Amino acid sequence: MKQLLRGCIYGAAAGWSVGAAESALVATITDLAFASPISESVGVALHYSLVGGFLGALLALLSKLTHPAHFAGAVGGLMFLATGLSWIHQDFYAGIPLFALEPLIASAVWTVACSMAGFSMAQAPHPILPLFLTALAGHLCTALTSAPITPRPQEVAKEVVAKDGAPNILFILVDTLRADHMSSYGYPIQTSPEMDKLASQGIRFDSAWAQATWTRPSVASLMTSLYPASHQTNFLDTRIPESFTTLAETIHSAGYQTAGFSANRNVESFFGFGQGFDSFWPSDLGSVRANAMLRFTTWERAKDILAKGFGVKIKTMNDFENHAAALNNEVVAWFDDKNSNKPWFLYIQYIDPHFPYQPPSDFLEGTDIEPISVELQNQVAGAIGSVSKVAPYPFASQDALPEDIKAQVIRLYDAEIQYCDREIGRLLETLRKRGVMENTFVVITSDHGEEFWEHQQYNHGHSTFSEVARVPLIITGPGIEPGVRAQSVELIDLYPTLATWASSPLPQNIHGSDLSPVLAGNDGLGRAFTQNMKSDVLTSLTLGKEKLVQVEYRGEEVWMLFDLSIDPGETNNLAESRPERVAELRELLEQRRVESASFQPAQAERVQLDGQRKAELENLGYGGEEDEE
Ligand SMILES: [Zn+2]
Repeated sequence: MKQLLRGCIYGAAAGWSVGAAESALVATITDLAFASPISESVGVALHYSLVGGFLGALLALLSKLTHPAHFAGAVGGLMFLATGLSWIHQDFYAGIPLFALEPLIASAVWTVACSMAGFSMAQAPHPILPLFLTALAGHLCTALTSAPITPRPQEVAKEVVAKDGAPNILFILVDTLRADHMSSYGYPIQTSPEMDKLASQGIRFDSAWAQATWTRPSVASLMTSLYPASHQTNFLDTRIPESFTTLAETIHSAGYQTAGFSANRNVESFFGFGQGFDSFWPSDLGSVRANAMLRFTTWERAKDILAKGFGVKIKTMNDFENHAAALNNEVVAWFDDKNSNKPWFLYIQYIDPHFPYQPPSDFLEGTDIEPISVELQNQVAGAIGSVSKVAPYPFASQDALPEDIKAQVIRLYDAEIQYCDREIGRLLETLRKRGVMENTFVVITSDHGEEFWEHQQYNHGHSTFSEVARVPLIITGPGIEPGVRAQSVELIDLYPTLATWASSPLPQNIHGSDLSPVLAGNDGLGRAFTQNMKSDVLTSLTLGKEKLVQVEYRGEEVWMLFDLSIDPGETNNLAESRPERVAELRELLEQRRVESASFQPAQAERVQLDGQRKAELENLGYGGEEDEE
């Protein structure tokens, strides 16, 4: 009995030191900041000590022949080894194969270190003491490394004073919002009453198109007014090059205070989106503040692996806390802090309609919508996973979701829109009450839509068809008369439009054109160009009511022509019956393609993704296949 107890205590102590050491690692190598690192690391250590205690007791029970300290030492050493290997391979050497030289050497060093630690613990007359000291050192390390984290000092630029009466600009991007799922765009379910209200006060664009169909390149186009071929931010490991002058930089240079808030991990300072913002949330060093440290440990990964292995989800890593209400809290806090003498440019990117379709439970209360179950979540993730490995042409062959399940999934997607819409209404109301919405332009749009098997795909980023490329665009503000515009416009047009409102000079190298004449009721260019630069290249040109789509598939070219006036869903390919028209539009598309690459930098800027970032992007449905070029 005594031996059993000792085994348990030693095991618990070994577990505790592993937990403490890993907490220190989490705090140092992941660039995360935690609200209370000390108490959180105690929590992590506690989790490990429970397992350690159990294992220690078990081993002591299994063999009464040997000193339990040896077992405790062995357990500690093994736990160190498992933890260390996980970190070494997933974080330090992310992207390097397991059997490459560097990871092998690192693993060997770590193994020797762990064996020595385990051995010395086992040899000590009172192994509890070295274990206690290790735990203490681990916690000290956590305290020292994470407590004093402060944001990097911003470069102090020359103070520019904005023009008198310069308007404020509120830019709201609802990630993954299909235009045709908003009630103001004709959706039969009332999904967007708050945004519809704005649409009725301002201009609704019925034919607005994103330049890419997944977050990173689409928002990069928005922020640089460049087509994807030029901004080169098209893969999971690429960022907006520093050499470009972003929208926020341009507006900032006109004397504005600028702040960005993004709930999508694809859009953060790490990927170059913070350029020109006085503050960008989540900050480089303070991201995922709402999440507990335990989430980033081997503990959580082991749970994930177990869950996947047994097909059960204990607790998903997708339980992000950055839904609309949480984002709004950050935004309102910024307003309470901001300089009241300067005009402001505020960028907010909500993520709610994005997969996983998990509207907050308090929102679903009182509705007839069932929260997404673990099984359904896994089923949708499976469907997304199965199509993301298939080229966008000739498309996946079999629908992974039965019709009734699909209807349920779409209902949840719509509920996310409804929830986000409600929160947008709440934010606007709060800001109005604070008197900060006077003389303010409001833009509402999205970075891309979402597909539910319209073209044999799920999720987004695979094609350039309307369900993913067409986005809502609503603009209200001083001098804008309510109305609807039918001509095609592009998200890259917003940059020069906003710069005009802010009276800031435009950089030479942009592709978009100012929408002010269109807002005033004049004709625009009436065309839109979308590029998908992933492994197979898709390009499309919308001109008036016609849309030409080109797919380059394994060296082969496929052309599709759609008449959007009678076929907005792009299901009836007219390319064979109208070859002359295809030839004419094709020429325009080729011109556009050449132009789209006109401001290409010498090379794309790449970043090294750590394991945690990768995992978070994977949870949003972005697998590793985009890494390849
Ligand atoms: Zn997105």
